[in-house]
Amino acid sequence: MTSPRAFAVLAAVFTLSASTALAADPPLFAPWIDGTSAAEPQMQIQAYDSDTYVIRQSIRTNFEGPFLYLLFGKNQVLLLDTGAGGLQIRPTIDRLIEDWRVVHGLHKAPPLIVAHSHGHGDHHMGDAEFAGRPDTVVVGLAPADVAAAFKIGDWPHDIAKYDLGGRVLDIIPTPGHQPAHIMVFDENTRLLLSGDTLYPGRLYVPTDQWAAYRDSIDRVVRFTQGRLVSHILGAHIEMSQAPGKDFIDDAASHPHEHALELPDADLTELQAAVHAMGDRPRRDAHADFILFPIPPKPKP
Ligand SMILES: [Zn+2]
Repeated sequence: MTSPRAFAVLAAVFTLSASTALAADPPLFAPWIDGTSAAEPQMQIQAYDSDTYVIRQSIRTNFEGPFLYLLFGKNQVLLLDTGAGGLQIRPTIDRLIEDWRVVHGLHKAPPLIVAHSHGHGDHHMGDAEFAGRPDTVVVGLAPADVAAAFKIGDWPHDIAKYDLGGRVLDIIPTPGHQPAHIMVFDENTRLLLSGDTLYPGRLYVPTDQWAAYRDSIDRVVRFTQGRLVSHILGAHIEMSQAPGKDFIDDAASHPHEHALELPDADLTELQAAVHAMGDRPRRDAHADFILFPIPPKPKP
């Protein structure tokens, strides 16, 4: 499960400057399950380091094939997203937490907080599995729930620090794709977990949320200026290795899929693209992402 190669790659990445062209770098992870094999497991776990796990839900269980993140601190464990349904995720999460407890020689595992990149159904369908789990908080889906859980005073303008214990996260409100969206920057690994706001795929933005999305991208770019971001890790992959090419919306498999990780330069490329459109959003394919405005959601 813990890939020595991942550690070697991580060490290599830190010796490079952030602006070094990464084109020749080996992938950060072993190939992800992509739906092309009938024998693939329902979930694939890869360790970024011994306190950081990236989990993919199989496209064969749900075409969204989302990515989940499990981050360990000394005092708390954060699970970011619970999947799109069609499988049980808690046994896998409980096993990872138990393994971590044993390795650390603890009598008791740290409490768990279950939060979400945002409130869409493909990211919280496993929440019910955690209801009633001891020492566990499941954060609600509304912006007010997220703001309260992470003590964000002025949503979406404030960025809050959240300490898992020797591991400080910056919680960055990023409404636009969905009103309760957050990005999470981990000060230890310098990973930016970007949810559905930036990933190698179709960045859906309802046109009536365009200004909020633009403000969110500006907020994240301001935050990352002067900080080294090791990698941007989103919640889906919907593109192939061919620049600018996506798979169809509910594709049963993703042969020759794009890597999960994006370089920090994609954030400023996204910002420039968003601003270039002004108030007239349009579909705009870039090598690593596709801006994809959609009609406003009907009001409930
Ligand atoms: Zn999603």
